[in-house]
Amino acid sequence: MNTPDQSLGRDVIVAVVGAGTMGAGIAQVAAAAGHRVRLVDASHEAAQAAHGRIRTALESRVERGKMDAGACAALLERIEVVADVDQLQDAGLVIEAIFEDLQAKQALFSRLEAIVAADAILATNTSSVSVTAIASVLARPERLVGMHFFNPAPVMKLVEVISGLQTASAVADVIYATALAWQKKPVHARSTPGFIVNRVARPFYAEALRVVEEGAASPEQVDILLTAGAGFRMGPFRLMDLIGNDVNLTVTRSTFQAYFNDPRYRPSLLQAELVAAGRLGRKTGRGFYDDAQPPVAPPPLAPVPLRGAVRVSGMVAPITGLLARMESQGIACQVLESDAPAVIRYGSAALCMTDGVPASLRAQASDHGLVVFDLADDYRNVTDLAIAVQDGADESVAADAQALLASLGIRAHVLDDAPGLVVARTLAMLVNEAADALLAGIATAQGIDDAMRFGVNYPRGPFEWAQRLGAGYFMSVLDGMQASYGDPRYRVSVKLRRMAAGRAG
Ligand code: NAD
Repeated sequence: MNTPDQSLGRDVIVAVVGAGTMGAGIAQVAAAAGHRVRLVDASHEAAQAAHGRIRTALESRVERGKMDAGACAALLERIEVVADVDQLQDAGLVIEAIFEDLQAKQALFSRLEAIVAADAILATNTSSVSVTAIASVLARPERLVGMHFFNPAPVMKLVEVISGLQTASAVADVIYATALAWQKKPVHARSTPGFIVNRVARPFYAEALRVVEEGAASPEQVDILLTAGAGFRMGPFRLMDLIGNDVNLTVTRSTFQAYFNDPRYRPSLLQAELVAAGRLGRKTGRGFYDDAQPPVAPPPLAPVPLRGAVRVSGMVAPITGLLARMESQGIACQVLESDAPAVIRYGSAALCMTDGVPASLRAQASDHGLVVFDLADDYRNVTDLAIAVQDGADESVAADAQALLASLGIRAHVLDDAPGLVVARTLAMLVNEAADALLAGIATAQGIDDAMRFGVNYPRGPFEWAQRLGAGYFMSVLDGMQASYGDPRYRVSVKLRRMAAGRAG
């Protein structure tokens, strides 16, 4: 029975089919919320092993004093391993977590339809198969919904509640309310390739791969720059090694195909090479990183006293964090405000924040020391920043830019002159992807932000970044990149243009 808030009552029996990584975790979550759970797998041993894994995980919580022994025993008692789906007649909700295969999922749900009661809800934990396509073989497709947990299910908060074309909104609402009652963060989404997270996250990997593929930076540098500059908990290369480069590449390939070869999702040759070599990441001991090699700590910053004045001209609003650092370091700085983009001059270097155009293309004939520097989520406390110097500049230019930044406590990584460097291009592409998903009605802006924060632990959602750092700024970075590369991958979503014009939320 449903509760007044529409969630399934605790008396409803939840069945989980497929007792692998996800099924075991989902069974644990449902049982922790008080439901009786029936766990079934094509391999009875796999289902029993899953029960054993849940027991081990919970007993370790008890040992660490995080769970009461009685609660642990009661929870385990609520999970019953059954031998066959025929034994699921009394389930009010069936969550499928079998192999990622359309035909297998269709066959299972067709069979289940004949077993469970007419009002039972059927849910799939698929991460990439169309919910609409799975439901298409059912007599009552309106009761099938996506309930997409993230790994590990007992830990990760997000549940994407996916409505296929024929899913009844009342069914999606029950699953949303139930996920909430299970202490999760549910987000409604429409069934489209990658749903929210696996689509919006693609540029996080793709842009990092492109920067390294072009020889502008090393994987280590990119990871440092994105963690320091944008607050990601883990850089993209460490994360790809953790996920497995084969798994990550497969998701990118399937997204690319599902969006009819849209260049925004184009897979990376660099990653394909790595996979071809069997360097899959942690699971093989080597991916972008070699697990046998200890990480190398960067040399300590050695600021040298500045000689001569620092002069700033232009719009200072985007760089107030840097000005505040100069002030707190007692660095005298002359400021001349105007409507032009800000330039910070020190010695032979003229530093500008990236606008997506490489320094070498942005420099006027009269410029000899143009340096572009990367975006930071907060210049007041960033520790590492990418810079690039215009081609042909004197060596003193990079040295002066590094000296100025070092005096502020910032390590400048001199990259080859990559458009949009690292943080600006990555955030711009994430914001653009989110804007396009919003335009297509896949989810609300709040839903997309929540999905990225709770599904992949982003420090902020894309729309929060657009709000904080300016939709107009991200739009100009993408326009600059598209002009530089001539690649439609960087085309700006009309939704982002409307946001920049202040006409769309
Ligand atoms: P897994 O390989 O760990 O487990 C799948 C289990 O399903 C196996 O134990 C297998 O024996 C069983 N199975 C296969 N066909 C079956 C059938 N017809 N009937 C009953 N049992 C059957 O897989 P997983 O990683 O847990 O993924 C399961 C589903 O969850 C997939 O759709 C996957 O895309 C999705 N998913 C996975 C993750 C992840 O990070 N692993 C995250 C979110 C969603």
